[in-house]
Amino acid sequence: MQYNISMNERSETYSVKVGNINIGSKYPIRIQSMTNTDTSDINATFTQIMKLADAGSELVRITVNDEKSAAAVGAIKSLLVQKNYNVPLVGDFHFNGHTLLTKYPDAASVLDKYRINPGNIGSKEKFDSNFDQIIKIAIKNDKAVRIGGNWGSIDKQTLDEVISNKINQKSDVSYSDLMKNILIKSVLTSANKAVALGLKPEKIIISCKTSNVADLIDIYESLAVECKYPLHLGLTEAGLGRDAIISSASALAILINKGIGDTIRVSLTPDNNESRTEEVEVCQQILSSLGIRNYNPRVISCPGCGRTSNTYFIELSKSIKSYISDQMPAWKKKHPGVEDLNIAVMGCIVNGPGESKHANIGISLPGNNENPAAPVFIDGKKYKTLHGDDIENQFIDILQSYIEENYR
Ligand code: SF4
Repeated sequence: MQYNISMNERSETYSVKVGNINIGSKYPIRIQSMTNTDTSDINATFTQIMKLADAGSELVRITVNDEKSAAAVGAIKSLLVQKNYNVPLVGDFHFNGHTLLTKYPDAASVLDKYRINPGNIGSKEKFDSNFDQIIKIAIKNDKAVRIGGNWGSIDKQTLDEVISNKINQKSDVSYSDLMKNILIKSVLTSANKAVALGLKPEKIIISCKTSNVADLIDIYESLAVECKYPLHLGLTEAGLGRDAIISSASALAILINKGIGDTIRVSLTPDNNESRTEEVEVCQQILSSLGIRNYNPRVISCPGCGRTSNTYFIELSKSIKSYISDQMPAWKKKHPGVEDLNIAVMGCIVNGPGESKHANIGISLPGNNENPAAPVFIDGKKYKTLHGDDIENQFIDILQSYIEENYR
């Protein structure tokens, strides 16, 4: 299942309009997220959607799992419109999607995209009629559909058939390869079925999620060759905290660098103290680390070592990051392009001046036994040297003046 796709060349896809944005290879990679509120709690869901959109989520998905949730969708959308939030809303449907979309035409009409999973649409006998029903509603309402397969929900009957074929034919294809093929076949067969029912290919987005990085890469490399539907990337059940972030970043970075992926989501199991917006921030950091899109000025800092006389440089880089976060809502409006700014905060003379010269603004703090002075560099040239106990405020003043001067 290895295909050779040139690095950095975006795989060509159809363009799919979802609400007010387009998704596909001609457009920037879109970040999306999903609420974890009970959708029938209108205020909680509406508030979380606003927070996710404010953080930079370009689409927000909500679960529509029962009648109360389906009934709440219209009110949630109205509140968003009243507050001038036009972020596209995606409805996540499983098992009863055909019934809910039929019984709640308001939800069917205000959602910008429906997400369905071929493994959760109904048993083999009911699959066709349930699937037909959903696709016809999408066609009637001119909506996009994500056909999203998931490793954890391949239907049991297909699984049993494939496994007994493998045993009967004494096939030496690995279990893992069989599963990947089933997942790909399941979503592409469903997409072809939707097209045969009259849904335009330019209304379909595909995803095939697994919880294993290597499998995910294999699957998406195949999908990029086998279809032209835009691809939604994401590792499913990625887990908690740092584990989930590292696994997701590894998988997404490899695929994106191969030109695969048109919209991304990082699924993080929420920790009590963490905001739901963390999944949006991680997506932004992945795209920004790959040099694809910048969202905030970048602060480069060295890791520190035995040459560093104290932790002042760590505190300084934290203060600058926090100053940037506080200022960004205003800067975005007042200083277009400021997100491309690079700032270096370095701990000593070894790499400090060199790294600072590569940044737009850099400061090299004094290390052990060095002259107690902090040279500042602007666009590769030494600008001035700071001294004393107030280096942080002096540096922030220089930063603010640079922004006013260069981003207007
Ligand atoms: S720049 Fe200096 S303080 Fe920072 S890691 Fe390198 S040697 Fe250590």
